[in-house]
Amino acid sequence: MKRRLFLKNAAAGLAAGTVSAPAIAQSQPAIQWRMASSFPKSLDTLYGTGELFVRRLSEITEGKFQIRLFAGGEIVPGLQVLDAVQNATVECGHTAAYYYIGKDPAFAFATALPFGLNARQQNAWMYYGGGMQAMADLFREYNCIQFVAGNTGAQMGGWYRKEIKSVADLKGLKMRIGGLGGQVLAKLGVVPQQIAGGEIYQALERGTIDAVEWVGPYDDEKLGFHKVAKYYYYPGWWEGGPQLSVIVNLKKWAELPKSYQSAFEAAAAESNVHMLARYDAGNPAALRRVVAGGARLRAFPRPVLEACLKAANELYGELAQKSAHFKRIYEGWNRFRSDQFLWFRVAEAGYDNFVFAAAAPAARTKK
Ligand code: CA
Repeated sequence: MKRRLFLKNAAAGLAAGTVSAPAIAQSQPAIQWRMASSFPKSLDTLYGTGELFVRRLSEITEGKFQIRLFAGGEIVPGLQVLDAVQNATVECGHTAAYYYIGKDPAFAFATALPFGLNARQQNAWMYYGGGMQAMADLFREYNCIQFVAGNTGAQMGGWYRKEIKSVADLKGLKMRIGGLGGQVLAKLGVVPQQIAGGEIYQALERGTIDAVEWVGPYDDEKLGFHKVAKYYYYPGWWEGGPQLSVIVNLKKWAELPKSYQSAFEAAAAESNVHMLARYDAGNPAALRRVVAGGARLRAFPRPVLEACLKAANELYGELAQKSAHFKRIYEGWNRFRSDQFLWFRVAEAGYDNFVFAAAAPAARTKK
């Protein structure tokens, strides 16, 4: 008797549960947005992170919140995603904030600064070091809100037709380079060019440019740079841990139900983790392939790195004079960076320096 009563109650509870779930789903509106990516479809890490984002958002909201993703140039040029979101041509975009340093150099903080934070430190700054709030004050002026949505990890220093043996070799070099790295190199004689991902190979092939930096082996291999410029330098000191952002028009954001805003933030955070993991997993094999394909690996000489660091610090002083946002954000960011570097020199660098040198060659000789 007791057991039958229990089963009856359990069945009633179950039925109540099945009734209430669709009732909740029905109360949520069906929303369709458009997202402009800055990246070409051929780059499954960069464009693919946008795909992951919209897929997960749809899944979390049971298909109610759909975003259609467009590759760079499809409806919005790759380097004008911020403008399109600001004007509500599209509701949202997936981009690198440093493409917009022409509007305000402080946008670089949401991607990377030369000799700045690595991927983990960038996350630490954004999520727990005041970065989200610091950037919100800037993005608000452009009718946007920004979410962290991807990171490449430390990048390579790019492809060069000729070796860079000294600071003098940088003079007159026409190089495709994004962000503030180009402005640092300009102080040492480089002529920086900003070209969207899909158009770089042609510029290098035609000789419009002498050098190019893009990301790292996994993407660079796909774009075929090793076929037209042999010397592959490291590290990409201008991008120690560059972040991508999902940006949303503020008015459109405010129209979303709270649960959709939460779903949006969760999908962005998941995209952030997956993009870095994908690069870290894919880069070693890609590096082996480009080297087998003729790439010659070179480390930037220390005097070149030191000259670049000096030029970067000069540039930060100048940018703080030009932009109130840069000055405001740089002060907090710089303190945060100093603390991070101090901490990472202890356990992280201690660990990395030993195991990367000691364990990796041993693993190779086993094969
Ligand atoms: Ca880059």
